[in-house]
Amino acid sequence: MATIQSIRGTKDILPADVNKWQELENIARKVSNQFGYQEIRTPIFEKTEVFSRGVGDNTDIVNKEMYTFADRSGESLTLRPEQTASLVRSVIQNNLITENTPTRLFYIGSYFRYERPQKGRFREFHQYGIECINSPYPESDVEVILLAINFIKRLGITDYKLKLNSIGNTETRNKYKTALTDYLQQNKHNLSNESQARIETNTLRVLDSKNNNDIEIIASAPSILDYLDNESNEHFNKVKEILDIANINYEITPTLVRGLDYYSHTVFEFQSTYLGAQDAFGGGGRYNNLFSQLGGKDIPSVGFAMGIERLLLILENIKENNTQPQIDILICTTNSDYLKYATELSLFVRQNCPNIICISDVNRRSLKSLLREANKLNSRYVIIIGETEAANNTITLKYMQENKEQITINKNKLIEILTA
Ligand code: AMP
Repeated sequence: MATIQSIRGTKDILPADVNKWQELENIARKVSNQFGYQEIRTPIFEKTEVFSRGVGDNTDIVNKEMYTFADRSGESLTLRPEQTASLVRSVIQNNLITENTPTRLFYIGSYFRYERPQKGRFREFHQYGIECINSPYPESDVEVILLAINFIKRLGITDYKLKLNSIGNTETRNKYKTALTDYLQQNKHNLSNESQARIETNTLRVLDSKNNNDIEIIASAPSILDYLDNESNEHFNKVKEILDIANINYEITPTLVRGLDYYSHTVFEFQSTYLGAQDAFGGGGRYNNLFSQLGGKDIPSVGFAMGIERLLLILENIKENNTQPQIDILICTTNSDYLKYATELSLFVRQNCPNIICISDVNRRSLKSLLREANKLNSRYVIIIGETEAANNTITLKYMQENKEQITINKNKLIEILTA
């Protein structure tokens, strides 16, 4: 008898790989808890209308990709293609909203979309995500982005892009859709068939087209950023302002709209060059109208979802391209007289920060060559010990990845920074 194979686009996670999954999930849980997020688990299948009303009838996910079936009583059910809509259904049903207080939730689970399988694209895939429910303010958009960045960093991914856009409130989007439809209609004959079909049904998604001709036409299309009204502009400016204060790099991308209907205001996506065609490994945004679409009252919220398979692909690539260990700190001295101080300091750091990888020079090299080495090793920090530091029992901490700023501090402050 022939053997039975797994379904196309699904994968067994075998014992040899399960460690990687568990490590990633542990980091996701730890980071989420540190930001005050609690785990929620909802059923893998829901009534179909959770997604048709939530994600949107005209989206690719609902139109073409859902695993929908009638159960034995004839009711239409769907394997969840994403988490946010069912999570919102659960929050409404279980009354998880407290007035004026955000409900902070995270999830890890498997999701199902009937897509054409390729590298980084499966029919059953896994996501880790968070939702900050019940805050209309830009501070919560930034909290969600900062959590995502913290998670990505802890995984050891430093080489990625954060793309950011605002698709404004409903009024903004309606005005913009009219302008964009006009423009696309004028250029209709040069657009791909798929984009032509989307002009009336899902106009914004035309901006997402990967077709080269379409991309050229889209480059001259009106920008949504020129259509933001006062409220939308104010919200977006505040998000950018706080991200700037936090020293976060982002790329404003007016064509970023994302594939689900429920977004409003801030949308963002994380991209990596390690992934090839499917280069987005996570994304999210604000959704102010999803609760009312699912029968609740309006509860403004914001969240993100990361694709676990794609994160693991990036980590595998980093490992293959880097035979050097990933380190956090390289301790350097300006003179070999201070090596004893450096050794003591490295012991102190390892004792107080068990998760920090800290190495200290043992070859009596010059500061210049050590700084070069730190760059090569992609170290987050360098600690410099010279005459003043040794005399005053302080250290100079240089940030190697952000602004290259350096500060002179005592050892306790160093531990505070490293464990923040
Ligand atoms: P989305 O829910 O479409 O915003 O997707 C969020 C993240 O989930 C993406 O950035 C991907 O990393 C991941 N993802 C979405 N669809 C798939 C898929 N079919 N296979 C693997 N990962 C996916």
